[in-house]
Amino acid sequence: MKRLRRTDILVIGGGIAGISAAIAAKTTDPKKEVTLVGEEPFPYRRPSIFSLIEGESLEDLAIFGPNCLAEYGIKSLFGAKIKALDLEDRLARFEDGKKISFEKAVIATGGEPFVPPVEGSSMNGVFSLRSYSDALRIREMAHAGARCFIVGAGLIGVKLASILHKREVKVTLVELKKVLWTLLEEPLSEFVRDLLISNGISVVEGQGIESIMGQEHVSSVKLSGKRYNADFVVFVTGVRPRVEVIADQLKFGVRGAIETDQMMRTSVEGVYACGDCSETIDLISGMKTYRPIGSIAYRAGIIAGGNLGGEERSYGGFLRLQGDEFLGTSVTSVGLTGAEARALGISFKALILKQAQSLKIGICSGLFEPDAKFLGILDGKERLIGFQAVGHKLSRKAIHSISSLISSKSKLEELRSIGLEPT
Ligand SMILES: Cc1cc2nc3c(=O)[nH]c(=O)nc-3n(C[C@H](O)[C@H](O)[C@H](O)COP(=O)(O)OP(=O)(O)OC[C@H]3O[C@@H](n4cnc5c(N)ncnc54)[C@H](O)[C@@H]3O)c2cc1C
Repeated sequence: MKRLRRTDILVIGGGIAGISAAIAAKTTDPKKEVTLVGEEPFPYRRPSIFSLIEGESLEDLAIFGPNCLAEYGIKSLFGAKIKALDLEDRLARFEDGKKISFEKAVIATGGEPFVPPVEGSSMNGVFSLRSYSDALRIREMAHAGARCFIVGAGLIGVKLASILHKREVKVTLVELKKVLWTLLEEPLSEFVRDLLISNGISVVEGQGIESIMGQEHVSSVKLSGKRYNADFVVFVTGVRPRVEVIADQLKFGVRGAIETDQMMRTSVEGVYACGDCSETIDLISGMKTYRPIGSIAYRAGIIAGGNLGGEERSYGGFLRLQGDEFLGTSVTSVGLTGAEARALGISFKALILKQAQSLKIGICSGLFEPDAKFLGILDGKERLIGFQAVGHKLSRKAIHSISSLISSKSKLEELRSIGLEPT
């Protein structure tokens, strides 16, 4: 009979969280055998799937060359899915029936798109955008003159709209609330909405798609009781933790994500979780949150992996930092937004900021863009807990300075050190 395969540390998931956890575990204790299993055929940076829609090739996507994990001494199995996991017996079974036993594990199974229950959403021509294969399917539909409805105007929806628009697709962006409401307060959100509209992208706020119609393939959508012709629809309406392989073996916390502590430990000894499948602690409020963001997945992986390698690593909380560029404009959002503060029960006010009188330079260095908009979120004690910028590309140094001001809950006056003050 074939010998049962064994590893010291099993990492389930080959995304950024799993990879950073595996490398951290192996570099912390090189003697430990670390095995990473990833369902997708190769490791890649998820944000770079936009470049596929822009027309670039698959090879440009890889995070690491094929041998990179091997160079660390990590065994990796890509294109392999763990079908069943027994955390008590420390045994994982692959889809093809093979098994691997392990001493400790990291669950880094990521997230999956959340699609609201809209009639017709399972029809051909309806997509989500999570994986490289989703991007390739969308690219196939994205020919000049095609009519696309994008549902959800978060950062991914807005960026996709700008890319499809560049490919001469007729884009309508539909959002239940406001454009980029999870990142920006209203005046900045309006700035982005107007930018999209002035570039020829239709934006519908305060409404959702009511139904999707067609025979075998999408041919129209219903919006506010009216029917509009459509060739394809993309839902970018959020992410939820992907935890089917865990079933009921672990405790779950915020929004159904795996419950974790400051060391990324789960409720089962020797089992850690990180990335989009798990909750994390917010630095500012100290509360548990669900933030499916790559920068947090990466840092959580380093904490989990270091602990598995035998070091004591813990964190006090992660600061949210999101940003991107589209239609020649940059958007940055750091710390708590008004919506998040409200949800966490933190009193706050939002203040529009302008260039400080005493300074001729912009944030840390360089001049402000003339149309740039800046906004600070202050808590009840007038301390900075969030920052948003639109229309001005922030340097790494500027982002670092702003993050430090927020992390140390600085007073409003200290914003002058980065060239800003309230209007
Ligand atoms: C289009 C797009 C753009 C983005 N842009 C940004 C950005 O600019 N900045 C940013 O910070 N974040 C961004 N994100 C979010 C970021 O990509 C995610 O937060 C990050 O990928 C999460 O990493 P992860 O390793 O937790 O999960 P994933 O990247 O989802 O990786 C998990 C992996 O585990 C595999 N898996 C699941 N179950 C099993 C199983 N049973 N057996 C084997 N393998 C399994 C999955 O197939 C997947 O490959 C973006 C996301 C998307 C979709």
